[in-house]
Amino acid sequence: MKTQEEITALSATDKFSFLCAKENSCFNQCCANLNQLLTPYDILRLKNALNMDSGEFLKEYCVQYNGQETGLPVVSLKPDYKNELSCPFVSELGCKVYKDRPASCRLYPLARMASRNRETGKITEYFALIKEGHCKGFERGKEYTSKEWIKNQNAEEYNRINDYMIQIVGIARGIEPATFDESIKNIFAMTCYDIDKFKMFISKDDFKGNEIAKSLGYKDEIFKDDETALLLFGLDYIKAALLRIKDK
Ligand code: SF4
Ligand code: SF4
Repeated sequence: MKTQEEITALSATDKFSFLCAKENSCFNQCCANLNQLLTPYDILRLKNALNMDSGEFLKEYCVQYNGQETGLPVVSLKPDYKNELSCPFVSELGCKVYKDRPASCRLYPLARMASRNRETGKITEYFALIKEGHCKGFERGKEYTSKEWIKNQNAEEYNRINDYMIQIVGIARGIEPATFDESIKNIFAMTCYDIDKFKMFISKDDFKGNEIAKSLGYKDEIFKDDETALLLFGLDYIKAALLRIKDK
């Protein structure tokens, strides 16, 4: 059962002790009562870990709805409604997708907020520690600063790619949500979350004449074997498309 949480801001040098282990009496409790938003990179990693097409993954494991902030689609993991709203990937032995678990699972009990300077593009990070009453991880383990914890959890690449969304959300916030009709929402959802469908979309001949694609220097051989590069291209594509809508 999840309990009340205490959130404490952390400076760059503040340290905390943590060890999540099967021996902890709370094992797996944090994977119930799920409210797990997924980023585009979370989805890419999970669908590959499960050897699934992104469309199949979204259908089987996710729910999609319009985000409150922007009105654009967001995706979260579909909890098991018959079993304490548990994550579909939790088992008695722990997380079944541990190597490819989402960024927020990696960072826990750390919360990371990031802002982007409009002129320089520089990202500034802020950290806080989330202490939930049921979590026994704080009672043992090594000491870490926020940066050390991120490295220990192999979350650096996740943060780097997830930070692309800051600018996209910032642009979308400046657009009246009613502007986003179903066709814009569908393109957004495909580009951000359904990478295998996006791959098909950009392989069609008419995409090569697409004005935004041309302005981004698109060449169809670039992303052949690199889905992360394809995702980043997709996010640049969405950013450019939103800027056009905003400037209309
Ligand atoms: S120690 Fe905390 S993070 Fe680890 S299983 Fe227990 S509740 Fe979850
Ligand atoms: S993905 Fe893994 S760590 Fe994250 S909530 Fe699900 S089972 Fe727990």
